[in-house]
Amino acid sequence: MYYDDDYPDCPDDWDDDDRSDFADPGGESALRAETSSNPRNLPCGQCGRENMLTPKDKHRGYVCDSCANQNERGW
Ligand SMILES: [Zn+2]
Repeated sequence: MYYDDDYPDCPDDWDDDDRSDFADPGGESALRAETSSNPRNLPCGQCGRENMLTPKDKHRGYVCDSCANQNERGW
């Protein structure tokens, strides 16, 4: 298999916000790092706990780490 989409032809595309700013690089979390322009100030859409998601997380339809773990493990 050849995953063309994972290797954009243009090097400038590498540093876009799809892969460059994970909150926990290499870890289980898919949430984004908190920055001044991307504050973690939104509630989780699943459990409702406040300040769990950044606008980028929300935009991608993410839930907090606890919910994500539960969803992935089928609890
Ligand atoms: Zn949650």
